Amino acid sequence: MTHRQRRDALQTDERLKVLLLCAVLALLTVAVIFTAAVRLSRPSPAEAEAKLPGYVTKDLLDINEWSRPGEPLKRVNAVVLHYVGNPGTSAQANRNYFNSLATGELETYAASHFSVSLEGEVLQCVPLTEIAYASNSRNGDTVSIEVCHPDEGGEYSPAAYRRTVELTAWLCRAFRLDPEEDVIRHYDVSGKRCPLYYVDHPDAWERLVEDVAAEVARQEEA
Ligand SMILES: [Zn+2]
Repeated sequence: MTHRQRRDALQTDERLKVLLLCAVLALLTVAVIFTAAVRLSRPSPAEAEAKLPGYVTKDLLDINEWSRPGEPLKRVNAVVLHYVGNPGTSAQANRNYFNSLATGELETYAASHFSVSLEGEVLQCVPLTEIAYASNSRNGDTVSIEVCHPDEGGEYSPAAYRRTVELTAWLCRAFRLDPEEDVIRHYDVSGKRCPLYYVDHPDAWERLVEDVAAEVARQEEA
């Protein structure tokens, strides 16, 4: 190979590298735009709020600095599941606790959009059009569900479990979410051991996500 041939070969090599880099960049740009488009095309919280299922009982908190700031929730990219951490308590007691934070005496910021009782009733504490102080850095783009449990272990009661799966599936459909990706635990956001049983038992969490996916399919057929 002459000196010139070698130089030409090297130049071709360089050109190929640049082309490859351009192709990768173009693909990444398309992926980012696609993801943004999917997120922006999701139905608004107001649309979902207007057609909540009949089993949801509205018992909204008073607007206050500590548990219902009244700040708009502009879009929903995930559903975050929690446990109340207070065995045997009712959804009403938890809702009332959130409302009592309004005095500021406890200096605690907390609430959730929904509270599911041991019997599977659902109280709505915060409308879907507003953020709830439940999931740390994800308060701005998620819906939160607090679930009651009979004992310290934190496993949801059978009725609470069924209802939580039903409501989570409904939210996935309302906001076009993928259960496998977009149904998460508080633990997945901040590392807090919540919902405790489903952090301690990853297999139970996997099953719950599968049950939500199956319920989405069932609701779509109904
Ligand atoms: Zn939590």
